[in-house]
Amino acid sequence: MNEIQCRHCGHRFDDSQIRCPHCRTPTPAEQERLAAGAKKRFLYAFVGLIVFATLMILILPRDS
Ligand SMILES: [Zn+2]
Repeated sequence: MNEIQCRHCGHRFDDSQIRCPHCRTPTPAEQERLAAGAKKRFLYAFVGLIVFATLMILILPRDS
């Protein structure tokens, strides 16, 4: 097991932890994981919105 140093407070802790036990700052690896998860969620929301908008355009009657 490795010891890593917190970027925020300098506290040293085991790298099996996902966040600093002292100030609760996520480790760089955990921050990356969280960012990747957020990106994925954003992409799903975006694709969902496009599909929804396309369906609405096809389904709703046009007054012309
Ligand atoms: Zn810390």
